[in-house]
Amino acid sequence: MRTEEFIHLEEEFGAKNYKPLDVVLTRGQGVWVWDVEGNRYLDCLSSYSAVNQGHCHPRIVAAMIEQAQRLTLVSRAFRNDQLGPFYQEICELTNSHMVLPMNSGAEAVESCIKAVRKWGYQVKGVPEGQAEIIVCENNFHGRTITIVGFSTEEQYRDGYAPFTPGFKVVPFGDVEAFERAITPNTVAFLVEPIQGEGGIIVPPEGYLRRVREICDEQRVVFITDEIQTGLGRTGKLLAEEHEGVVADLTLVGKALSGGLYPISAVLSNKEVLGVFQPGDHGSTYGGNPLACAVARVALQVLIEEKMIENAAALGPYFMRQLAAIKSPHVKEVRGKGLLIGVELHQEAGGARRFCQSLKAKGLLCKETHDNVIRFAPPLVVTQEEIDWAVERIADTLMEP
Ligand SMILES: *Cc1c(COP(=O)(O)O)cnc(C)c1O
Repeated sequence: MRTEEFIHLEEEFGAKNYKPLDVVLTRGQGVWVWDVEGNRYLDCLSSYSAVNQGHCHPRIVAAMIEQAQRLTLVSRAFRNDQLGPFYQEICELTNSHMVLPMNSGAEAVESCIKAVRKWGYQVKGVPEGQAEIIVCENNFHGRTITIVGFSTEEQYRDGYAPFTPGFKVVPFGDVEAFERAITPNTVAFLVEPIQGEGGIIVPPEGYLRRVREICDEQRVVFITDEIQTGLGRTGKLLAEEHEGVVADLTLVGKALSGGLYPISAVLSNKEVLGVFQPGDHGSTYGGNPLACAVARVALQVLIEEKMIENAAALGPYFMRQLAAIKSPHVKEVRGKGLLIGVELHQEAGGARRFCQSLKAKGLLCKETHDNVIRFAPPLVVTQEEIDWAVERIADTLMEP
């Protein structure tokens, strides 16, 4: 079948909740992917940072096959020999004390919302039914009803009411607004260290540090959603490390499997996840041996193959090269590590047409928020590959 036929099938039978670029991919290796016509592209999206380790990383693939042939799912009704080692390894790596394994990012967010509410009632003494959680404008935490209920993006909410109550929205990066929003019933603050889907928005220096102090003073659980920023993307294992802070709860997902399997986790101190008793929460696939085996190797690969160091070294290089492009369309280049956004002026006519032009040159990128192009290649990218990309990005951004 050719490209048009695959597209036709998707359009004929699929829900239209995505509008993908018209490229049908069939194979991937490292930073490269190939379409069904045999064209090669450099992947500058990495599946929204789920493929930090590169496509089809051989060690992760081998671990997945090996585990798939041995044991895949027993449910949490029984124990399995991958879960404990996974817990220990991820806790040691992230200095956490307790883990809750789930599947998607949104489920990790939902799970932490349940945990902090229960903590609020049982430990902080908030009156039953009164718990408040503070979130940020322009946030992205997933797509469930509860989560889109506190989104400020009109399209994410439109048509889905009624929503879950108990959330308060404050501007991102504004410590004073956060402090003012706290009441005796506030149980938690949920924030992305860098807003990813919101357009690669980096908060002012010191923001997370001040938030940490305020959360300590006011007894508010500090939750960082590192589902996109975590696991090496910004040049640290967790983006919160850039400010030297440790959140009470940290959410990871996406790259936790290197793109091979849906797995997410809530990482916690003992106190918050400690509120869960048997039966309080669950997931059929959460913590299954296949997921755990894949995640264990995906984490090892990230560390042993020095991918975090590579992001720290090449991210600033990539950003400098992008900033040096003298295009009249570019308003700002920003980001951290290999999570980079190029914001275009309103008059440029939207980022999507540039993504289309980049595709024709062999680069796959995705616009976010109409006017921002995100550049987030797998963390195994080399300097030569970045130079190759920059040449094409410069050509594209110089087009009228
Ligand atoms: C992608 C993402 C999520 C949701 O993850 P899913 O696996 O798509 O449910 C949550 N938070 C952030 C910051 C994300 O980037």
